[in-house]
Amino acid sequence: MYQSTRSNYTVSDTEAVLMGIAPDGGLFADPALIPGNGVPSFHAESCMGLPYTEMAGKIMSALLPGFSGFMAEITAVYPKKFSSDKITPLTKVGSNYALELYHGPTSAFKDVALSVLPLFITKAKEASGISETISILTATSGDTGKAALEGFHDVDGTDITVFFPDGGVSAMQKAQMVTQEGKNVRVCAVRGNFDDCQCGVKEAFAAAGKQGSENAKRLSSANSINIGRLVPQVVYYFSAYSQLIDCGEIRYGTPVDFAVPTGNFGDILAGYIALQLGLPIGRLICAANSNNVLADFISTGVYDRRRPFLKTVSPSMDILVSSNLERLLFYASEGDTELVSSLMAELNTKGIYTLTGKPLENIQKLFSTGSCSEEETAETIRDLWKNYGWLSDTHTAVAFNVLEKYKNSAAYTGNPCVVLSTASPFKFPAAVLSAIEGGADSASASLDDFALADKLSGQTGIPVPANLAGLKSKPVLHTDVIDPSELIRYVFS
Ligand SMILES: *Cc1c(COP(=O)(O)O)cnc(C)c1O
Repeated sequence: MYQSTRSNYTVSDTEAVLMGIAPDGGLFADPALIPGNGVPSFHAESCMGLPYTEMAGKIMSALLPGFSGFMAEITAVYPKKFSSDKITPLTKVGSNYALELYHGPTSAFKDVALSVLPLFITKAKEASGISETISILTATSGDTGKAALEGFHDVDGTDITVFFPDGGVSAMQKAQMVTQEGKNVRVCAVRGNFDDCQCGVKEAFAAAGKQGSENAKRLSSANSINIGRLVPQVVYYFSAYSQLIDCGEIRYGTPVDFAVPTGNFGDILAGYIALQLGLPIGRLICAANSNNVLADFISTGVYDRRRPFLKTVSPSMDILVSSNLERLLFYASEGDTELVSSLMAELNTKGIYTLTGKPLENIQKLFSTGSCSEEETAETIRDLWKNYGWLSDTHTAVAFNVLEKYKNSAAYTGNPCVVLSTASPFKFPAAVLSAIEGGADSASASLDDFALADKLSGQTGIPVPANLAGLKSKPVLHTDVIDPSELIRYVFS
């Protein structure tokens, strides 16, 4: 059973996946996971040592029992779509570990969820006897868009529209999206930032929900507001833990800290759900880039989005309104939907809210946080490459940097640490190459992302992932650009 974070509106898990967002604007959360409601009857330890697909089937069935009969079919896509037999392999990098989440079809961690979400939607449609087309709406800060297109293109009974911020994604990310083939896809740039795209999409949901709307369309979301996006991400926390046991780093029960490069708060919230299922997690370290609204919130309880939106070298984290934080507020307040509603209303009208008391303590007990500047991001990429021969993308580097700051603080108790590595460095070749060259080689300034990726490959001996190298020869199929005010009309046109 799933409940809105803003009211006692409840639906089944299949309905929650189909709807994406609750009619009251809240997100769907599982009230059984509220810490005060007792430990769910899930045996985290029994997942250890299982192959990824079996582990995924077990964990996802616990969180989405309505799909348990289809799990074998659903999880069978992983070995087909991922190039590593571990799906999400763990690599030792200095004294820490990197969980490489980017070996899927679009070279970003979003593939883990978006490879299976289309199957969740298709199965949920069947289960509910729905024959109309489900229209998937997606706002992207860069990586969700392509991963969602890859998952949904030419899937019968669905169509998909992706909005990305014009000029707000890397050239490689843009090339991935605008060359997308498929009879049921639309890709559109928005003259605004990610928050404008996400806000427009939420308004489209509200418009579609209005009774008697002549534009009635059945909408769902491929963003992490959809619980079907979040659940598959819980699995790789278990996989990381299991791999730490396999390599002899820990025995079952040792707490492990996870550092997560955070934007919309989906990836790190999946870690929180893993913990609720009983996985021995010590602390979750929320790493922000210069858009440090979340870092400020976790340290002070004040969420203040009234600040400049900065464009950084880690664009997938350039977000000031982190949707999934709403789910954490729901859990940390033990399901206080009135509190969550009023905070979200304040965020909407004033751009700021303050969390105090027990809910804030609950968050601070578990989450550490920090932010990383542009210079520190480059330094970290350079150091990781120089010292350990491990090539990091810009987002992952933010998490390594914030982890180092955490390990030098009083909060650190000596647990083994895992950094979630969210993208291939070849998606951000300009920033990564300039970082390892120390910014010295100005000759790179005139090269496009494909030439830069080749150059980065030449310098590191690491091949460019085939899905990225192949984009160069693909024609641009999508050229629409709109203002944020035109987004709703675009959706229903
Ligand atoms: C989406 C993304 C993030 C942020 O993840 P959230 O779930 O939005 O917090 C971090 N790094 C990369 C590469 C991403 O694509």
